[in-house]
Order: sequence, then C-alpha cells, then structure tokens
Amino acid sequence: MKTADQLLVKQINKMLVLNTIYKEKPISRAEIAKRTGLNKSTVSALVDELLSEGLTLEIGTGESQGGRKPINLSINKEIGSVIGIDLGVNYILSILTNFAGQIIWEKRITIKNIIDSPQQKIHDLFELIKETIEHAPETRRGIIGMGIGVPGMVNYDHGHVLSAPNLLWENIKLKDLVEEEFQIPTLIDNEANAGAIGEKWFGLGKKASELVYVSAGTGIGAGIVINNELYRGSRGLAGEIGHMTVDVHGIRCTCGNVGCWEEYASEKALIRYFKDHATQYPDSILLSKSSSEYIDNLNIFQIIDAATKGDQLAIEGFKNIGYYLGVGVSNLINAFNPECVVIGNALPLVGDVLMDELRNEVARRCFSSKYSNIKISSSELYMNACALGAVALVISRIYASPVSR
Ligand SMILES: [Zn+2]
Repeated sequence: MKTADQLLVKQINKMLVLNTIYKEKPISRAEIAKRTGLNKSTVSALVDELLSEGLTLEIGTGESQGGRKPINLSINKEIGSVIGIDLGVNYILSILTNFAGQIIWEKRITIKNIIDSPQQKIHDLFELIKETIEHAPETRRGIIGMGIGVPGMVNYDHGHVLSAPNLLWENIKLKDLVEEEFQIPTLIDNEANAGAIGEKWFGLGKKASELVYVSAGTGIGAGIVINNELYRGSRGLAGEIGHMTVDVHGIRCTCGNVGCWEEYASEKALIRYFKDHATQYPDSILLSKSSSEYIDNLNIFQIIDAATKGDQLAIEGFKNIGYYLGVGVSNLINAFNPECVVIGNALPLVGDVLMDELRNEVARRCFSSKYSNIKISSSELYMNACALGAVALVISRIYASPVSR
C-alpha cells in the first residue's frame, strides 16, 4: 500500500516524464532519465503506464550509442480531441484540435448585435459547440475537454464569469451551463490568461519563463507568466490591466473608473478616434457612407484593410492606438521585467504601423527596458491565441494529473 506522499511523488514524476516527451519528442527512455534525473527503472515503469493509457506512443528507433538502438517515444496526438473557444465581444471562435494542439477544424461566427442578452449569446455558443463536436474524429478518448476564454473577470476554480462589462455579463455560471448541456469537462478562464497560456505552449513564449501577453481587441487584458506559471493573484483576478488608469481625469469607462487604458488603446478607442477626426479626413474610405452609425458598425478587418490600402484616417488611428499601447506596455515592463511581451488579439494584425509606434513609445518611456533587451512582438498565433490557450488549459491539466485521467 502506497502512502499519499508516495502517490504524489509518483504523480509528479509521471507529469515530468510526459512533459519531457512532449517537449523533446522523439526521445528515448534513457534520454528521459538523463533529462529528468529520474532513474531508468522509474522512467521505464512510468512510460509503461503512459503507453497503456494511450497518452504516448513508441515511434521507431533512434541512433545507437554503441549498444542496441533505443526505442523513441512521442505523444499520442490521436488519443482524443480538445475544443478551444474564444468568446469575443462581437464574435465567437471555436477550434477543434488533437491532443498536441494541432488544429483539425475551426469556425468563427460574428455576433451582429453585441447587446444581445446573455441567453442569446449562450445559445449561439451552444450551437457552435454542437457543430464543433460533429467534426470531432473517432478517437479512443473522444473529446477530452473544452476550454473557454472570456473577456472578463472569471473565478477559474468554479468556472463562473463574475463580470464581463464588454459583454454586459454579471455572475454567469458558464462552466455549469456548458457541462450540463454537453457532458464534457470544461475550464473557463479570462481570455488574456488563455492567450498567455497559448503563447507559452504554442507561440512566441515557448522559451520565455517570464512573459506578458497583452490582448488588444474590443477591450484590453493581460496574462502574466512568472517563472513559467500563469500568475492569477490572490483571488484569480490579476491581469485586469485594461482598467489601469492612464489619465486621472480621463474618459469614463464601463467599469466605473475614469481614464482606463482600454478607453485609449482598444478597438473602441479606435472607433472614437475616427469619429473625433472624421472632418480632417473627408476622403477616407472609412467615411464613405458618412454617418456615425456607419463608423460604429465597421469591423476591425475592414479598418485594417483600409490602413493597408493607405487610408490616412485608418493609419493615423492605428498610430494613436500604438502610442497608447506603448504607454501601458511601458508600465507593464516596469512592473514585471519580462523577457518578452506579446501583443495579441485583433489590433496588432495591422502590423508595423501600430507595432513601430508601440515600440518607439516604450523606448521613449520605459525606464527598465533600457537595461534589459525585451522583445516586443505581435502574436504569431494571430487570432487563435485565446482559443489555442483554452485548448492548452485542458491539455496542461491532463499533463498535470495523467494518473487520474
Ligand atoms: Zn475601466
């Protein structure tokens, strides 16, 4: 009979072996022992368990170091599927991946009326989840789990959305609702936290142990990785950085404060810029139907398209957003001294026009960046960082407790 401590040690060792296989694949048992510091017989026993659970596979032989050729191991990508959802303010993106986070199928729907009731949005979400499930291949474990990134404050342990001002959601027990409908284990997190995990697992943050991910879309949020772990704060609400004050007498925000960063550096700030400066750019293609209602209904891809075509109003709007993003990113760098800052969500898709301004402003403003070489990049996962991060939430939980699954 093993004690609780022995079981815990075994669990941790198994997680270590599975993680090493994931990161170093293909890799032999002997090499795993060398990398982890575990002895060879422990590694062999744990690998046997992982093989019988179907989480790993033997995939041929490696180079011989003198004796018999070692058998290489890899992750069994086809053991099951995972669903990752990015619940945006005016869209929902669903992706279906295999166990290695490779995308099998994806679909993005646009939500036209963003002030729809929570019930309507949940209905749209459920329809999209149903469609995603229909595309899942037959696998040994079926759909292993689902992750959902939400733009708001989330109680991660209970899967409750506490408040999402841009969605007009208060106290929605989203995990309970989704699990009751689909009987799939579901994890809910803030969308920027999910984005940070996505970058850490699949994107630019793979090698960084200190990382700040800034989600710049309809609102702004940040996911902060410290010592390779997501930093959640005492009540899980860390990273609500869109509501950091950048102007003490500034614009009133939906959160109740004034001068919040997201009022100056998000998509809603971009739209406000167009309205305020429309008269200076009468020829702008963004004004072709010259009504403020038309500007309100522009979507971010139309605006990016206009900037790419050289539209001056669009370009100046993005420069202004880049400037204000730089202001906030400087504060984040001063606070956290990360190795890299990744800017994700829709706004950085416009490219250099925004990112150059952002980097210039950080160089002008940020005290600590003068003493460390901090990389500031736009996400290479493009619009998928949050949904892939939601997938990573599910996969990382299985990696953390392979015995219980
Ligand atoms: Zn605010």
